[in-house]
Amino acid sequence: MADCSYHPGKEAVGACVSCGKMVCVACRTELQGKVYCPQCANNLFVLKDNIQPAKVETVSTAPAMTSVSGWWWLLPIFLTWLGGIIAWAATKNRDPKKAKSMLIWGIVLTFIYGIIWAVVFILFTAGILVFEGM
Ligand SMILES: [Zn+2]
Ligand SMILES: [Zn+2]
Repeated sequence: MADCSYHPGKEAVGACVSCGKMVCVACRTELQGKVYCPQCANNLFVLKDNIQPAKVETVSTAPAMTSVSGWWWLLPIFLTWLGGIIAWAATKNRDPKKAKSMLIWGIVLTFIYGIIWAVVFILFTAGILVFEGM
């Protein structure tokens, strides 16, 4: 007689219908009348547990994933607040969360670019003053 795949020395009483490993009385797991080894029984339970949240997840994220593409982000990045408003107006019905964050980023980038230009301008003017002073 073959030994249990999980407990060497123990006599096997059956084989797992999923992976074919020999199982003893202690690790034989019966599910819906079929014999499974502890590992396959565990995998089946993991799969069962994963099916429920996965289904919920696809329902909630699938429309957003398919309808609003990442290319909309180029609008607020290049056109700042104007692009943010365009991107928000175009995507708000399909993905309000993403539309709102693009609008916010458009406004934030307006300020960031404004600060960058101000710094460049100040440095440029300061550079001219330094040259003039020399
Ligand atoms: Zn198995
Ligand atoms: Zn065993």
